[in-house]
Amino acid sequence: MGRARKSYENPYGRRWQFDTVRCKIPVPMRHRLATVFVLAAAATAWATASDWSRLHVHVPDDAAMQRLLDSDLNIMQCHPGCGGTDVIAGPGDEFKLRMLGFDFTYVGPMAAPDAWAKSQINRTAANASIQSDEYRNRYFTADEILTFFENLRTTYPVFVTRRQIGTSINSEPIWAYRFGRPLRTGGQPENNIVFINLIHAREWVSGSVGMHIGLRAAQTLSAPQQTPFLPNQALWIVPITNPDGYRFSWTNDRYWRKNRRRNSGGSFGVDLNRNFGTGWGGGGSSGNQSSLIYRGTAAFSEPESVAIRDFAISLGRVGAYIDFHSFSQLILWPWSYTSNRAADWQAFDAQGRRMQTAIRQPWGVTYTQGQGFQTIYQASGVTPDWFYDRFRASAYTIELRDDGTFGFELPADQIRPTQDEAWAGALQLIAETPR
Ligand SMILES: [Zn+2]
Repeated sequence: MGRARKSYENPYGRRWQFDTVRCKIPVPMRHRLATVFVLAAAATAWATASDWSRLHVHVPDDAAMQRLLDSDLNIMQCHPGCGGTDVIAGPGDEFKLRMLGFDFTYVGPMAAPDAWAKSQINRTAANASIQSDEYRNRYFTADEILTFFENLRTTYPVFVTRRQIGTSINSEPIWAYRFGRPLRTGGQPENNIVFINLIHAREWVSGSVGMHIGLRAAQTLSAPQQTPFLPNQALWIVPITNPDGYRFSWTNDRYWRKNRRRNSGGSFGVDLNRNFGTGWGGGGSSGNQSSLIYRGTAAFSEPESVAIRDFAISLGRVGAYIDFHSFSQLILWPWSYTSNRAADWQAFDAQGRRMQTAIRQPWGVTYTQGQGFQTIYQASGVTPDWFYDRFRASAYTIELRDDGTFGFELPADQIRPTQDEAWAGALQLIAETPR
């Protein structure tokens, strides 16, 4: 089986025509077919036959990539050198791709965006008690995540407090939870470490990681030990940075990424991770309102990004920052908006390697590390660039599991190892952050 056949019978009986698709890229077909079966298994977990599929789109150069990003197609991920990116394609999208001049191959079936919501009609509520392991085995809704954090706060009232840092487009509060010792008066002001989760709605394992780091931080703070944890430091966790988008990904569209801004042209959503001020408006963001990476009408045009910005500024001192995303298993540091080296790039490179080593410890999985621009792709207006620019913080994006086999729909049995890896990386960064 060396090359694509003329047609392919997918597991749901629909015949996929390849005759109009020129397969220019040497797709390792055996690998692709293996992916088909894996994806079929994943899709059937919450859906049956659908008109949705995962396509691998050949992207020859940067200009073509920008053309794809400016469209309204639902892009999954891209790496330089991979020669392309996968797209979540619904009815009409294959035609759209051809009109834009792209070649593509069929990777596997995907569930319809609303199939998840339908499968959840009789869902029993998760046990959000912090004594339960359920948050390690199952994805939590927005309400369940917030209940989990509230349970943390009532169990560890001395070490866990919270603050409302803003309000979403749909008027939902955005919370930041503080983990640390009670504020002292006088002395050197404490250094702050900020972690944010679920800025992108569909990257659900990011929310699971936030809960785990919160619980482990509270437990470590309250356990008597020889070396103090978070000495003259505070760890802040924003469990759900994009609450409207996250809810929407449960109720309407499992593949939703942006916030729920109603744009002037009638489409919905601004990509909050293209809406920050450093390098805003540059390559790897889009001015098209329908684009998945629509940057908004101006830097900080969105209440969710303003909430993060103003909260961080109110802290005064921010030494470290992580924005948790999925997927691709990467540790990325500034800059993402330019290929120029950051003044501290050597320190980032060394620290990135130490975090990589720490993350590898629990399960033997290696996350690639490097400057955002070169390691993943150019992205302008992203959060770590702003945190580094504003505070000179050790600021990272961590792309959690997996390598792309399942992508956003990471199977629940991978939540636990992903949490372990994130906690290991977080501990390394916390230990290296000045007091
Ligand atoms: Zn993301």
